[in-house]
Amino acid sequence: MTLTRKEVAAYFERSGGHPSRALGQNFLVDPNTVRKIVRLAGVEGTDHVIEIGAGLGSLTLALAETGATISAIEIDKYLIEELQINVRPHTNVTVVHADAMAIDWPSFLIDHPSPNGRYVLVANLPYNVATPLLCDLLDFVPEIDHMLVMVQKEVGDRLAAVPRSEAYGAVSVKVAYWAVAKTVGTVPPSVFLPQPNVDSALVRIDRRIAPAVTIEQVSHERLFHVIKTGFGQRRKMLRRSLSGLVTPEAFERAGVAPEARPEELGVEQWGRLAAIT
Ligand code: SAM
Repeated sequence: MTLTRKEVAAYFERSGGHPSRALGQNFLVDPNTVRKIVRLAGVEGTDHVIEIGAGLGSLTLALAETGATISAIEIDKYLIEELQINVRPHTNVTVVHADAMAIDWPSFLIDHPSPNGRYVLVANLPYNVATPLLCDLLDFVPEIDHMLVMVQKEVGDRLAAVPRSEAYGAVSVKVAYWAVAKTVGTVPPSVFLPQPNVDSALVRIDRRIAPAVTIEQVSHERLFHVIKTGFGQRRKMLRRSLSGLVTPEAFERAGVAPEARPEELGVEQWGRLAAIT
């Protein structure tokens, strides 16, 4: 069960409001896409699903049918009431009126426990916060076991990119450090109201049991700082872009050519480079 194009259009006509571009509001109005997202998310009845940007509830309603406990987070005060009305029949859904970028996640998880201890993020993410939000959740919310997110295709390409590909960047390395990411579908603009200008991607992100590299004598902060600095000057050789951070001896001990460009290094090599100072 989900919302149809007619229902979403009728809500805006009734309320006299408009979808907010600033909040990245493109509502799902296609039952097949909604079903596909729920299937690819692999939600179990005893999971706790965190949905960020629930909108009017298109995805929430389908997620509710899995029997899982759902926290549907939405920032827009104008949509909250309608969202509450739409999900009311489902007692397993809690609507949370909040800015997902400002949530104190440890307290949130205490207040919203998971029956089996596992959290799953499922979201049609607003384009303006998708990348920083996902990075924060990977860095600071290890309780989230896996994610199925819909993002702009270009963002999806970056999340799942491998070394030496055009989309590969600091975000790809961060994702690869914590998780395994895979694009599992592409979605055309026609499934949304209003329609965005670009295709979207469905990305599944499965958190690793342990990070991809064991880093001794170095913090994640240092690792991500080294990665960000390297990619900050993408065309430069690492010996130049990392000159203040990594010594020539460290390159040698890490087995990384000082002439390499950032896109050539996999997460393990970044780990070795950051570890040896
Ligand atoms: N899930 C709905 C759907 O698929 O139809 C709506 C998806 S729409 C792409 C993104 C939603 O995220 C909007 O409802 C928007 O108001 C909400 N949103 C934007 N920024 C947010 C934030 N910082 N925290 C929580 N929700 C946010």
